[in-house]
Amino acid sequence: MVSGRVVENVAVKLLQLAVTELPYDVKVALQRAYREEENPVGKSQLKAILDNVELAEKTCTPMCQDTGVVIFYVKAGSKIDGLDKIGDALRKATIRATKDVPLRPNSVNPFTQKNTGDNTGKHVPFIHWEVVPGDTLEISVLPKGGGSENVSALGMLSPNQGTTGIKKFVIDTIIGAGAKPCPPTILGIAVGGGADIAMKLAKKTLLKPLNQPNPNPELAKLEQELLEAANSTGIGPMGLGGKTTVLDVKIDYAHRHPASYPVAVVIQCWAARRASAVIHSDGQVEYISHKVE
Ligand code: SF4
Repeated sequence: MVSGRVVENVAVKLLQLAVTELPYDVKVALQRAYREEENPVGKSQLKAILDNVELAEKTCTPMCQDTGVVIFYVKAGSKIDGLDKIGDALRKATIRATKDVPLRPNSVNPFTQKNTGDNTGKHVPFIHWEVVPGDTLEISVLPKGGGSENVSALGMLSPNQGTTGIKKFVIDTIIGAGAKPCPPTILGIAVGGGADIAMKLAKKTLLKPLNQPNPNPELAKLEQELLEAANSTGIGPMGLGGKTTVLDVKIDYAHRHPASYPVAVVIQCWAARRASAVIHSDGQVEYISHKVE
């Protein structure tokens, strides 16, 4: 039996961790970028980002004023009782975290322009569900900032454009985005499926740890090629020049309709916020993205 209260408490903690403390792999990638950046302006931007990250962690305050739109990914064990309470618990957690962390209210009705003030609304927080074998509940949160989301893109390419078409679309997207997504960014890319499936898979790849090559060697090679091509644009940290435009590239795919070739690029800013925890059937909670005392 999963207690709604436990889910709510864990989700509040995940939101707090996500917005105040970058996962270790992202910090390591930013530190490496700082060491290797040769452009003095780009290097100073990376230093400012790292100082900001350190201060946010020390003071337990959000690392960016835009704390994003709240998206949860839930892997629910099929043997869990009380699954019907999880959605409500995640919604309550979002309201509590908005007040307590705090989070910036980022949920606006697109027709009335009214902000709900508590980061909830129609389909917000958005919850992606996956039913898996077992009796554990894994919850991940991905608060997604607006600046990087605004330059994410979907291309409905022609199948004959193939891998060359994918590369061109991704690099054109990065060049078009310029400074807007607060580089250095992380690229979540998905190819195939339909328009919705590609976008969903692309965003989900942003939950994967950095610097872990794709287990598919062909895709690992493509990730590396795209990383090098993106970093040769010279856009650099915060768009002010340098060789660190992208920290990492993650690719996923789905089989496609013979006539369709969707390519989704979801861009994540340097504030690559995510946090995950597993709730076990005995109520034990294990935070898997961050060290929690
Ligand atoms: S793109 Fe990211 S770092 Fe830039 S303002 Fe938005 S949330 Fe903050």
